[in-house]
Amino acid sequence: MKTKKIIVAGSINIDLVYEVPHIVKEGETIHSTKHDLYFGGKGANQAVTAGQLGADVQFIGSVGADDHGIRAKENMERKGVKTEAISSQGATGQAIIQLSDVGENSIVLFPGANFLVTPEQIQESEAAFKTSDILLLQLEIPIEAVEKAAELAYANGAKIILNPAPARNIPDSLLQKVSILTPNETELELLTGISADSEENLQKACSIMIGKGVQAVVVTLGSKGAFYMTSEESGFIAAEMAKAVDTTGAGDSFNGALAVALCHGDLLTDAIAYASKVAAFVVTEMGAQPDIPSTLCR
Ligand code: ATP
Repeated sequence: MKTKKIIVAGSINIDLVYEVPHIVKEGETIHSTKHDLYFGGKGANQAVTAGQLGADVQFIGSVGADDHGIRAKENMERKGVKTEAISSQGATGQAIIQLSDVGENSIVLFPGANFLVTPEQIQESEAAFKTSDILLLQLEIPIEAVEKAAELAYANGAKIILNPAPARNIPDSLLQKVSILTPNETELELLTGISADSEENLQKACSIMIGKGVQAVVVTLGSKGAFYMTSEESGFIAAEMAKAVDTTGAGDSFNGALAVALCHGDLLTDAIAYASKVAAFVVTEMGAQPDIPSTLCR
């Protein structure tokens, strides 16, 4: 059987987490009591999930020509992601996160090399699109690069999963190429103007997106699970029970696992159930890219 392949075009970040007594105020200097470095970036999180679950995953993106970039790429390779199409330029993207004693956080996001990904760089990987089944996209690289990737995947008959995060408006020409749109509640509200606070409103909001040309919508609802809609059916799929310690990257692992299940030919509802299982594991560990046990592999 032909090997099924996934392309992820997206962002790679280093997450620098500083524990602080309180979030620093304007003009203030404070000491951090603990510092951790995690690998992150929505694209990388999703790719690493898919790689660990046994999929053939190729990444297109950009890191800086610096130590963080080298480490981020090595980490992705270790977790089963092909990195030949990752360029090195500028400085690696960083999320600088303050975590206070009372659980508040504040984040400075420096996109760095992620914002240097161009449609031309995506075009250089044209050959990979010809042999791939699924393209997984988010919105942390320039929209022109996202659109180029969608164009190449669409022309080659691959399924396109678009995780519309961080929330922003999306051109209709891009939505029309999308097989599955995977917003969370906030992103769905930004896209439709409808708050996802009841089944009726979820139905309304998802119908708007289907009217714009996406084939299916899967709304992630945190511990409440996920709601899906296609032109034929809709419904809820409950989250798996989990003792959450860090929900960072729950949505990313959900998207990575969804792509893997669809690559295996699962029905959408089965793929959502599998993605929920993987995401429920990820929230029980610190960081957005924990080691996923082989029992969850496909
Ligand atoms: P992030 O931006 O942090 O990646 P998100 O807002 O995109 O997250 P969520 O909707 O919070 O994504 O979560 C995605 C999926 O992860 C949910 O649909 C659910 O299946 C699973 N999940 C999230 N939180 C929990 C939890 N506390 N317990 C079990 N499963 C969870």
